[in-house]
Amino acid sequence: MSPTTSKPFRTLDDVDVAGKRVLLRVDLNVPMENGKVSDLTRLERVAPTITEIADKGGKVILLAHFGRPKGHDAKDSLQPVAAVLAQLVKRPIAFAADCIGEPAEQAVAALRNGDILCLENTRFHPGEEKNDPAFVAALAALGDIWVNDAFSAAHRAHASTEGLGHKLPAYAGRTMQAELDALGKALDHPAKPVVAIVGGAKVSTKLDLLENLVAKVDALVIGGGMANTFLHAQGVKIGKSLAEKDLAPTARRIMDKAEAANCAIILPVDAVVAYHFEANAPSHAYGLDAIPPDGMILDVGPQSIARIGAVIDDAATLVWNGPLGAFELNPFDKGTVAAARHAAARTKAKKLVSVAGGGDTVAALNQAKVADAFTYISTAGGAFLEWMEGKPLPGVEVLRTK
Ligand code: AMP
Repeated sequence: MSPTTSKPFRTLDDVDVAGKRVLLRVDLNVPMENGKVSDLTRLERVAPTITEIADKGGKVILLAHFGRPKGHDAKDSLQPVAAVLAQLVKRPIAFAADCIGEPAEQAVAALRNGDILCLENTRFHPGEEKNDPAFVAALAALGDIWVNDAFSAAHRAHASTEGLGHKLPAYAGRTMQAELDALGKALDHPAKPVVAIVGGAKVSTKLDLLENLVAKVDALVIGGGMANTFLHAQGVKIGKSLAEKDLAPTARRIMDKAEAANCAIILPVDAVVAYHFEANAPSHAYGLDAIPPDGMILDVGPQSIARIGAVIDDAATLVWNGPLGAFELNPFDKGTVAAARHAAARTKAKKLVSVAGGGDTVAALNQAKVADAFTYISTAGGAFLEWMEGKPLPGVEVLRTK
């Protein structure tokens, strides 16, 4: 069993799957372009659990949602995704046109040990998102055990992500296990000092996250648009920069809480300012006392980049969510890219455990071409943020030993 936040959770090491019908919850919610899967990352992540269970003689029954259908909708069928997954794992994957009832029952009954079956989109049934007991029971009837390998859906208490864990013996799949182990090392029992970098557009969407982090980390680097709100709260004139000025009292409260918890808040000390929110807009770096009144802060400045580098040098563990500037627009990705490369180099030198997550953050690290050098990158958007907020994830809690 693997240790994590509180009680340990059960893994595939705790069960003999041979001959068992294994309901395996995976994340098959892949991006599609013109009817084709455009990014295989999620499929690559679940492949090892699928092949391990099949190789051990389990009957693999894949459960997943796709999109946000309202009832049965052919455009959200999992069938094309299952076909791509079959190519990836280099084995046939049978498909059942419904995830409960006769089509599913017949397909499950036809499975031999080591076979793989994918059931149709669980969200074709409203009982999935309602965690409806009758729907959970119908799913549970198809399996002997439930393995959850979808960390990215674990913040939702749906039938296939949580409900089944109350009906069947429940285990973490290998991807879930790796994610929980990595996240545990980053915040629950980290090597100290721990530094967090939080960026992105707004304070309002990351309030819970900031509040949780100041209580846990030794230093909190704040960048991006949200840093402007903090600078404004400190009396810095930020011109026309994106900011939530009404949240100045909130920003001050977070800074007070940080001080009480001995967490250093690292704000930008200079800024790159432009006059238009667009790529290659003419820009210039200014000290905080000289931000032009009609300018917009779009990135942290060179002195801030050096300071963030020094903070990373002092850290043993780094947790990162959110870009330090408007990274989609060249050259306002400079601060984010520099910090990412610095963290990657420290990680490669075995001086740093680095964990990052969230949609934009993963995109920014990919842009900096350093994603592979980080200790762990979580592709789970909402679930990663809720974990950073310190909230229990229902789909994880249900895997813990009681
Ligand atoms: P979030 O989804 O909250 O992580 O925010 C990410 C977005 O914040 C990205 O689209 C960035 O372009 C944007 N962003 C970061 N820094 C700034 C800034 N200084 N001004 C405007 N937008 C920013």
